[in-house]
Amino acid sequence: MVPAALLTGQTALVTGASRGIGRAIALKLGQLGAEVIVNYSSSAEQAESVVAQINESGSKAYAIKANIGEESEIELLIKTVLERSGQINVLVNNAGITRDGLLMRMKTEDWQAVVNVNLNGVFLCTRAVARPMLKQKQGRIINVTSVVGIMGNAGQANYAAAKSGVIGLTKSSAKEFASRGITVNAIAPGFITTDMTKDLDAQEILSAIPLGTFGTPEQVAGAVGFLAADPAAAYITGQVIQVDGGMVMS
Ligand code: NAP
Repeated sequence: MVPAALLTGQTALVTGASRGIGRAIALKLGQLGAEVIVNYSSSAEQAESVVAQINESGSKAYAIKANIGEESEIELLIKTVLERSGQINVLVNNAGITRDGLLMRMKTEDWQAVVNVNLNGVFLCTRAVARPMLKQKQGRIINVTSVVGIMGNAGQANYAAAKSGVIGLTKSSAKEFASRGITVNAIAPGFITTDMTKDLDAQEILSAIPLGTFGTPEQVAGAVGFLAADPAAAYITGQVIQVDGGMVMS
């Protein structure tokens, strides 16, 4: 159990926080006392509703629109947060998309779009927060990858490659930043009930999950809250924590 208010006085940026897992993470970090920046790319109304919920719970929050597939928008996002909040203590790289299709027929633009948001975006956000975090000698970076990045998945070569890349990026940046008090970890969800998974064949997938159900966004957010909260997870870095109902065991 992570005690409430462990993140009081800290600022957390969650990318793709208007819906699904990112929304649950933003709410969790708000419950833990952080000021939360709710990033989104198109769902303005939903992002504002996440902000309102965090405000109601007694923490501060605001929303910023920025496309995590665009370097200039990421630079502006981080600059705006630093100007407005003066710090970024927790970065959760959550924004992600899918453009599924068999590799032989996969369009180059679908490969690029997924790698761009799901991998390049994580690199660009991490690089942009690195300097302020190194300066403050403290920070938590949590990257949302996927079990698909560990096991591969037919029809998701682009997504699996990007999510595997996120794991390599997590481990490398954990090694680079460790001496400055910054931890970098990844969360690898299995199948979680969100818009992203609503069209999948539930029966077929459920048979591969030992715990027998899809996960919830709140269950992923619980693991993120643990990694973000100081001092609970201070000695954990470079790790991939699976929240997958036992689907992938290595
Ligand atoms: P989701 O319900 O489709 O929500 C995606 C979120 O990302 C939305 O808030 C969306 O905001 C935002 N987003 C998408 N493209 C963006 C962009 N270019 N710039 C900024 N924000 C963007 O997806 P989810 O299921 O919550 O997935 C969240 C993360 O978990 C992703 O990284 C995904 O790969 C990962 N994951 C999910 C599952 C699962 O089973 N659901 C499993 C493993 C990993 P807008 O609506 O404003 O565009």
